[in-house]
Amino acid sequence: MNISNAKKALKTYFGYDSFRPMQEDIVQSVYDQNDVVVLMPTGGGKSMCFQIPAVTMPGTCVVISPLIALMKDQVEGLLSNGISAAYMNSSMGQTEMMAVQNDLARQKIDLLYVSPEKAITADFIHFMKNIKVNMIAIDEAHCISAWGHDFRPEYTQLKLLRQQFKNTPIIALTATADRLTRKDIEEQLGLRNPKRFVASFDRPNLSLTVRPGRKRMEQIIDFVKGRRNQSGIIYCLSRKSTEDLAAKLNRNGIKAGFYHAGLSNQMRSDVQEDFINDNIPVICATIAFGMGIDKSNVRWVIHYNLPKNIEGYYQEIGRAGRDGAKADTLLFYSYADVMLLRDILTKNASENEEIQLSKLDRMQQYADSLICRRKILLNYFSENTDGNCGNCDICKNPPQHFDGTVVTQKALSAVYRTREKVGMNMLIDILRGSKRRDLVSRNFHLIKTYGAGGEYSASDWQTFIQQMINMGLLEIAYDANNILRLTEGAHEVLFKQRKVQLVKMTSIMEHRNNKKKDPAPKTQKERLRDQLFERLRQLRKRLAQKKGIPPYLIFSDRSLEEMAATRPSTREDFLDISGVGQKKLQDFGKPFLQEIQDYVLEQSGQGMKIKGSTHLVTFQYYQQGMDPDEIAQERGLHPTTIYSHLAALFEKGEDVDIKQYIPSRDLSSIEEFIEQNPKSGAKEIYDANEGSLEYHVIRLALSWLKKNKV
Ligand code: ADP
Ligand code: ZN
Repeated sequence: MNISNAKKALKTYFGYDSFRPMQEDIVQSVYDQNDVVVLMPTGGGKSMCFQIPAVTMPGTCVVISPLIALMKDQVEGLLSNGISAAYMNSSMGQTEMMAVQNDLARQKIDLLYVSPEKAITADFIHFMKNIKVNMIAIDEAHCISAWGHDFRPEYTQLKLLRQQFKNTPIIALTATADRLTRKDIEEQLGLRNPKRFVASFDRPNLSLTVRPGRKRMEQIIDFVKGRRNQSGIIYCLSRKSTEDLAAKLNRNGIKAGFYHAGLSNQMRSDVQEDFINDNIPVICATIAFGMGIDKSNVRWVIHYNLPKNIEGYYQEIGRAGRDGAKADTLLFYSYADVMLLRDILTKNASENEEIQLSKLDRMQQYADSLICRRKILLNYFSENTDGNCGNCDICKNPPQHFDGTVVTQKALSAVYRTREKVGMNMLIDILRGSKRRDLVSRNFHLIKTYGAGGEYSASDWQTFIQQMINMGLLEIAYDANNILRLTEGAHEVLFKQRKVQLVKMTSIMEHRNNKKKDPAPKTQKERLRDQLFERLRQLRKRLAQKKGIPPYLIFSDRSLEEMAATRPSTREDFLDISGVGQKKLQDFGKPFLQEIQDYVLEQSGQGMKIKGSTHLVTFQYYQQGMDPDEIAQERGLHPTTIYSHLAALFEKGEDVDIKQYIPSRDLSSIEEFIEQNPKSGAKEIYDANEGSLEYHVIRLALSWLKKNKV
């Protein structure tokens, strides 16, 4: 099997022009009959690594997949690309199963998705042995590891497949990266000398933002209202808060659902379906939500609370932007969340409490970071990066340092004067001169620094104090109600003139002060593009409803964006859109091209100039049965121009009968001339014939001959 077949299949079936880094090498390794381990982040394009070999090699590829819901989705996705695929699992009836077996026996299935428990049954193995299995793909391979978070005991028996299908390459794929898991995968599956591919875990299309968790509700409403019609997930810590938050959003005119493990199966799958089908744009959920979802057009993820660790956080934000188009993530960070999480972790007193606490520390450091956040993330996954990402809040709004000695002294002095008996919130309230009852009752309003920091907001103070903690000037006494204690360093600042640099988070300030600051007004071009995108999105939704499949399986947001930006007008142009393969062209080309054309014509009717639209206007009239002279008159253009539009449309593959405008005598003489003077263009032909041929006839004849070369 040759890699050029693979590239052809990539274009024909999936509509993509090139492989992503590593995909090509992985496919080649499978062709070479190697066992392969693939580590790629969510959305990295793992599926392609076995789907392409599956459609190019003779036989059937068996895919082990742990979630029935996902299986169905993936099979639908493949079918919509014109690939024959099926699944087998416990949810199926006898007749359904028989039908699949029939198709398999007749070698009509390129990819067969099976649950692990089914795959290890003697029946299944026996059946498959009579069929050419060209490879076995084990998706979500980390499920094999008892160390991991998605351990599935059935996975541990998959070694049987290696033993039973001795000459079949196995490819194991996962987005969970740690070494222990990787070792487990290789050993437990009994892979032979596997080739390992570890892709970068960077997801550059995800923007990263962290904001202090004050007035979250207000911030969320703002955020979501600026993203109308986009799908997004808000992760919450507790079941109850998912319900409360969803109710509040609905009261504020934002359609939102909620999801957590306490709901009935029916309710959960209903919510999930509504989300997948773009019926409910916003889901407030615990982290139970997302595992069984392949939805590629999740455009944003918000963390209402700080996650427990970076692994979880990265996995959750990774559910946004799987289609590669721009997506936003927002994390709310509050000191109270850290305390709560610490509490939960220590109360549960699990044996690896230390590890979990240090993971929480890393998470907190990320949220506190004053350098590019992506660097921290990638670093966490042992990836080094050069330069800043340009797509996180820190890069977009670099923190400004200032001499924070006085600010720091005020805070430290307040801690000193309250005899190290207060936590962060009380400290802030003292500095800002709050009249909180318990503050007054403890006589904190009498100390010298009471109200000394009123010029800063509470969230500013929070970031300052956090920095003092990170600099080692203050310590949190986790064992004593999280009160703050002074360190040796604090004494240097208070009594030995040590200077302190602090950072003022301009992004935070800006957010508060200029909340209503409008973004740069959109150019007309952008407005047109957005409007068209919205129309295409609605068309996609209507078609999806009719077909009973999720909208993103028709086209990804990314494909729609490209359509809106380039406005293809012919089938050929349409095929150039990333994500449009032959089958999609056949099934959906017509309605989408029509929608684009309608839109362009409407806009140009309003005096708007859109590239390519003048051809389309001509085409429209042509389709209504007008002849070129009439069109020219109607449009106030010269007939030659109309003919050249028609010639161009014809060349692009549109159904325009230009031959009727070329007298056959002229056609043969032009053809003859070209044969003798192969390099000549319209002008040369015109000149050589001293005006005896009309210019537009030459133009049309050249187009015709180009397409009908013998
Ligand atoms: P994963 O399984 O790793 O989460 P997927 O296989 O679902 O990722 O791929 C994520 C998205 O990227 C899908 O929409 C897929 O069609 C797209 N994709 C995969 N490979 C390519 C490629 N070579 N070019 C363009 N898009 C691709
Ligand atoms: Zn950055």
